[in-house]
Amino acid sequence: MLSRAAFVTGGVSAPRATVLASGSAGNAVLLEAGGYGLLVDAGLSVDALERALARVAAPVRTVRMVLLTHEHDDHARGAGPLARALDIPVYANAGTAGAAGAALAGAGVTVFEMGRPFAVGPFAITAFPVPHDAAEPAGFAVEVEGRRVVIATDLGAAGDVLDGHLSDADLAILESNYDLGLLHVSGYPWFLKNRILSGLGHLSNDDAARALVRTAGRRRRIVLVHLSESNNLAALARDTVRDALAATGRADHAVRAVPPNGCTEPMEIV
Ligand SMILES: [Zn+2]
Ligand SMILES: [Zn+2]
Repeated sequence: MLSRAAFVTGGVSAPRATVLASGSAGNAVLLEAGGYGLLVDAGLSVDALERALARVAAPVRTVRMVLLTHEHDDHARGAGPLARALDIPVYANAGTAGAAGAALAGAGVTVFEMGRPFAVGPFAITAFPVPHDAAEPAGFAVEVEGRRVVIATDLGAAGDVLDGHLSDADLAILESNYDLGLLHVSGYPWFLKNRILSGLGHLSNDDAARALVRTAGRRRRIVLVHLSESNNLAALARDTVRDALAATGRADHAVRAVPPNGCTEPMEIV
C-alpha cells in the first residue's frame, strides 16, 4: 500500500538521477533537485514504485509529477495509478496522452508540445521526437542547476536531433537494448526480431556506441538502459560503448550499463 509519508524537502545537495527500473519489465528514472522529484516514466505498479523509491531513501511524496516518453506498458502502466494516489499531474504529449488509454484513467494530464521547452519545479524540459513504434515517442533533454541530462529510451535509430542533445549532455541515459549477435541467435520469433531491428524498434549496443562516439565532444557520464534480458549483457553493452569511445581517444567518459531489469543508486548530476 502507498504510505502517506510526509513530503520531505531537500537540502542543498546536488541534483541527482536514479534509474529505479530498466528493461522490458518496467522503466522509471527519478530526477531530484531541491526536494522536487520528477519521475520519467512509471512502468511499474504503485507498490513496486514505492519499493524502488524506498530503496534509495526517496519518500514517495518526493515525486511531484510523472513525465512519459510513450504509452507502452513498460513505461506508462503505473503513471495513472501513481498520479491518482499522490494527486500529481502526468505530463505527456498529445499522441501519448491519446494512446495511453486506461493507463492514465482518472489522472490529470498536462499536454506538452514537442520541441517547446517547459519548466516544472527546478527542471527545464525539452522533448524531442525519437523513432519508435508508439503514437508520439519522445526523448527528453532536462536542464537543472546548469547541468543537462538527456534521457532517450525506446528508439529504433539515433538521428541528428538526438545527437545534438547528446553533445550537450552532462549525463546521458541512453537505450542500449541488444547485442546484434545475441539477437540473431536468440530464440525470439522472427517477427519480434524484425520489430526490434527495425528503425522503429530499439537501439543496439553498436548504435548506442556510434551515437556516443559521434557526440563525444564534452566529457559525460553515460548510463546505458533498457537492456534486453535475452539479447544483451550489462558487461557487453558497457564494453561496446567504452571500447568504441576509447578507440577514438575518449576513455574519459564514465560508462555504466544497468543490468536487464536492474537499477542504480542515486547518481549526482555534476
Ligand atoms: Zn520499453
Ligand atoms: Zn516502447
